[in-house]
Amino acid sequence: AEHTVIIGAGQAGIQVADSLRAEGYPGAVTVLNDESAVPYQRPPLSKDYLSAAAEGTALPLRGPDFFESKNITLHSGRAVAVDTDARKVSLDGGTVLNYTHLVFATGAANRPLSCPGATFEGVHALRTLRDALNLQRALATAQRVVVIGAGFIGLEFAAAAHARGLEVTVLEFASRPMGRALSATASQWFAERHRTDGIDLRLNEGVASIERDEAGLVVISTTGRRYPADLVLYGVGVLPRTEVPQAAGVATDNGVLVDAALRTSVPGVLAVGDCASFPNVHTGTRTRLESVQNATDQGRHAARSIMGENSSYAQLPWFWSTQGALRLQIAGISEPTDEPVILGDPSSGKFSIALLRNGALAAVESVNSPADHIAARKLVGQNISVDPATLTHPSFSLKALAK
Ligand code: FAD
Repeated sequence: AEHTVIIGAGQAGIQVADSLRAEGYPGAVTVLNDESAVPYQRPPLSKDYLSAAAEGTALPLRGPDFFESKNITLHSGRAVAVDTDARKVSLDGGTVLNYTHLVFATGAANRPLSCPGATFEGVHALRTLRDALNLQRALATAQRVVVIGAGFIGLEFAAAAHARGLEVTVLEFASRPMGRALSATASQWFAERHRTDGIDLRLNEGVASIERDEAGLVVISTTGRRYPADLVLYGVGVLPRTEVPQAAGVATDNGVLVDAALRTSVPGVLAVGDCASFPNVHTGTRTRLESVQNATDQGRHAARSIMGENSSYAQLPWFWSTQGALRLQIAGISEPTDEPVILGDPSSGKFSIALLRNGALAAVESVNSPADHIAARKLVGQNISVDPATLTHPSFSLKALAK
């Protein structure tokens, strides 16, 4: 009988199940959940969840009657092996499930910190609800926080800790924050703004080791400086969780390799979300993205592929990050060689940066300007040619251009 088994009950996996039912899938649907919590949203864990006033509960991905009303089985357990010839999944408890379609939605794991002292108590990472709960408790008594890595999660955490009145130092090995995702212009603006707000952001300075003395932890940087800390949070990137597909003979290379319809190298097996490396029509390269947009849009697309549709995934990537009072939204993927054009006045704290590639709008980064972002999502990817002089004219608005 038709049975789709989805490995991973995160943003992407739950979306596949939801969309299968929305598309009228007639078979059974099982989602494997290897976390103890009801499937929940990760983005708030590094933002609202960490505030002193937070309730300590996670936002669920779907309402309480979702699984029952859609006839979706949420099965507790971890997939440990897949036999792709026999189409069977083995779980940690010994259960074996037969499938007609299998979806890897296993997400990503935090890249471990490799320096001496990385595993001391008080050194935290942030991915799961359990991690966030530990951090919420640690923040209640800590005074000095050192954050390792000025990526989205590091800076979101830094802003949340600073808002609670803690002393926050951020160490970043690269020369600018969020360098992997953001234009240099936007990076610089964020660096200055976080410093003005009182975060001690140190660039070109990584972690060398972590020591422990009577007073607590001491982070020693690559320049030899010593930073005493009660709490250390590291966010140094993620690794796709490919151990099960790899052992099953599914092709992987920085993620589970999928084609334009999100199918893997093995018939009947698909992959979506943080764990999937897909051909990106917007950049012309293979990409692995870590965002809610990517997880949900790929979840929808994979459901249609399972229903027999053979279309190419082509949704425009977009992202957001909330760092204290700063709401960053990005449409498209910028490249270091793009030409930045500033729209509006950065000193007002509300502006956007248009990134032009060969004269066309390739990406837009918006700070506290949600209307620009919504307009940008309609414009980016349409290969719209724009003249920098038009963009900087006082009467120009992205919203008007998107009409
Ligand atoms: P996940 O949501 O990670 O789900 C994967 C699930 O699979 C996990 O529960 C995992 O335990 C499970 N799993 C793995 N292996 C197995 C197995 N063998 N058997 C069973 N289950 C397994 N994105 C944004 O766009 N905006 C944000 O502001 C933002 N903030 C974030 C803040 C934090 C703290 C984190 C951690 C992420 C944030 N993200 C944000 C990223 C976003 O949450 C992820 O891109 C998204 O959750 C990816 O969905 P996914 O389903 O691919 O993976």
